[in-house]
Amino acid sequence: MEILVQKYGGSSLANAERIRAVAERIIASRQSGRPIVVVVSAMGDTTDDLIRLARQLAKEPDDRELDLLLSTGETISCTLMAMTLRHMGYEAISLTGAQAGIKTDASYSRARIIAVDPSRVHRELAAGRIVVVAGFQGITEEFDITTLGRGGSDTTAVAMAAILGANLCEIYTDVDGVYTADPRIEPRAQKLKEISYEEMLELAQQGAKVMHPRAVELGSVYGVPIVVRSSFNTNPGTLIHGETAMELRNKVRGIAHDTDVAKITVVGVPDRPGIAAALFQPLAEANISVDVIVQNASIHGVTDLSFTVARSDLERALRIVQSVSEEIRATDVVSSTDLAKVSIVGTGMQHAPGYAARMFRALADHQVNIDMITTSEIRITCLIGSAHVVEAVRALHEAFQLDRADL
Ligand code: ADP
Ligand code: ASP
Ligand code: MG
Repeated sequence: MEILVQKYGGSSLANAERIRAVAERIIASRQSGRPIVVVVSAMGDTTDDLIRLARQLAKEPDDRELDLLLSTGETISCTLMAMTLRHMGYEAISLTGAQAGIKTDASYSRARIIAVDPSRVHRELAAGRIVVVAGFQGITEEFDITTLGRGGSDTTAVAMAAILGANLCEIYTDVDGVYTADPRIEPRAQKLKEISYEEMLELAQQGAKVMHPRAVELGSVYGVPIVVRSSFNTNPGTLIHGETAMELRNKVRGIAHDTDVAKITVVGVPDRPGIAAALFQPLAEANISVDVIVQNASIHGVTDLSFTVARSDLERALRIVQSVSEEIRATDVVSSTDLAKVSIVGTGMQHAPGYAARMFRALADHQVNIDMITTSEIRITCLIGSAHVVEAVRALHEAFQLDRADL
């Protein structure tokens, strides 16, 4: 019989009462007789609390130690869940990421899954147990514990679903699906019945944290359909899968926003070959992802170069950029953290002109200044002042009529 993989996020497991409610839900799914693998996140805000605690003791906690610390959050919830299920009369066993066979590279805090050995999980399922796996964590070749990046339990769940040949991965959270915008920001956001991997990936990468981007990527590569649903009700969720009926619906499918943005500008950069490589190579080597990059036209052989990184990477990035800027004799390095990104996403936009103009007009009508712009085939992103992010999301939602969309 097909294995069912379910993932429950931290908001669904905030306290003992919620763990009990989720256990009841798991048992209800078990009544179908299907073998079940449950992936859990840390309870409530545990991960944030642990990070805060670590920073009280060390300004920049060591990566390896921090990952081992953070992994305890998921270890707590998987053991509690297995105990609860057993107390309710069901055979269940908790497995850490390592015990569940999740092998990763050694990039702490953003480790990538390199292989999954499902043999232990298969054995436990064959023994009739509900298997509860700690999300967000894995183990390196050297037996060090790693974490997969914030929100990474979704990725554990989809990876398990892929390796176990599950025909569906259910992601249970505190909203009942993927909406046209974050419903916390735009109350008029509408739930989407379905969305393609491609569109969901762009939304997730641009800040829609309802899904971890790498989980969507894995779902797409291994052809695992994903359903996002609420653990608080039984409403139908949103199906993330392959092709959807593109012509029938709005070309803009959703708005994403992200306030985890910092901008670095290198001022007075000599305009000659090799400068961009000199700047970005050491950043790549330090595992810092650079997002939007803009280079101004050069005047008298010097130019300014701006780019964005995640705020959590800013200090490390600045140290690197400052040292390179001295080598290349740039005039100055400045940074700012009062920026945010807003994006419109939809595969239907790729052969239809005018979307960028409509986006810029909507922002201008609300006096929102655009700092930088980037696009992909199915996305347009504007960097704006973070103070305007709520207004911008709502303005775009209205401009593209997403509250009235045929979803
Ligand atoms: P979990 O703890 O279950 O992993 P998260 O907090 O990671 O939950 O993700 C769920 C949150 O994602 C929602 O509460 C919502 O505020 C946010 N979110 C952002 N964009 C969207 C969107 N387009 N649709 C639904 N939720 C979204
Ligand atoms: N607990 C981790 C986090 O808060 C992983 C997850 O929730 O998916 O980021
Ligand atoms: Mg999440």
